Amino acid sequence: MPLVTLTGREEIARGTMAFHFSRPADFDFRAGQAIDLTLIDPPETDEEGNTRAFSVVCAPFENQLMVATRMRDTAFKRVLKSLPLGTAVKLEGPSGSFVLHRKAEKPAVFLAGGIGITPFSSIIRQATHDNAPHQLYLFYSNRRPEDTAFLDVLNETAKNNPRFHFIPTMTKMENSAQEWHGETGHIDRDLLVKSLSSLQGPIYYMAGPPAMVTAMRWMLVKAGVDEDDIRSEEFSGY
Ligand SMILES: Cc1cc2nc3c(=O)[nH]c(=O)nc-3n(C[C@H](O)[C@H](O)[C@H](O)COP(=O)(O)OP(=O)(O)OC[C@H]3O[C@@H](n4cnc5c(N)ncnc54)[C@H](O)[C@@H]3O)c2cc1C
Repeated sequence: MPLVTLTGREEIARGTMAFHFSRPADFDFRAGQAIDLTLIDPPETDEEGNTRAFSVVCAPFENQLMVATRMRDTAFKRVLKSLPLGTAVKLEGPSGSFVLHRKAEKPAVFLAGGIGITPFSSIIRQATHDNAPHQLYLFYSNRRPEDTAFLDVLNETAKNNPRFHFIPTMTKMENSAQEWHGETGHIDRDLLVKSLSSLQGPIYYMAGPPAMVTAMRWMLVKAGVDEDDIRSEEFSGY
């Protein structure tokens, strides 16, 4: 198993951190894929063990590996948060086939709730870098702007990439101290039809905690989307 070293970490939203690791020269992955990270001899552990899967947040063209996670109070996350920079962890992968489809005439519609943004961040970064011809729609739901990872960078990308359409929505603005002039409420059929010329035609991608993925799939099927056009990545463990 190759080793990678922690090169940096920062808070990217309330209770959410990004972790940066060195990227081995021979480590290839496709945008949207996940890796397994294993802590080596951590000072504490729990019944889930020392390994977690994370979607890679950065893109294959970048010279690093970045992951992001909601910081709950578990042994793995406590240790990760306090690891000295330069510490080695084990890397396995990449795994999964949650990658952008090839037929560029079909738009891609990404549905992300909270930390489910991670694989889409990678796909959007790489598609923008490659000037990919696909139309990309990202519907991204969070409680408040304070909780929304990568909000600024995604807004910036939408300004620079005319094929990337960004629709963030907030579900708990009553608890926010920030101003918000965008969409509010959960991602539902009405929000989709405001931006998409037709619900039939795009390939839909959903990622996040299993309950959220199940709810989104049900919403799409009820709205008449063909199940063959729906792809999902469940962050089992949440
Ligand atoms: C292919 C794949 C890709 C993945 N990609 C990612 C990724 O990019 N980012 C990522 O974060 N995870 C990702 N995951 C999930 C990840 O591997 C972990 O399982 C997940 O982060 C949960 O971590 P944890 O086990 O430390 O428990 P956590 O769920 O972080 O914490 C569990 C504890 O928190 C408590 N808790 C549960 N919900 C809440 C809440 N809402 N508020 C406060 N406390 C709560 C629980 O009671 C429990 O004690 C992925 C999983 C897979 C399979």
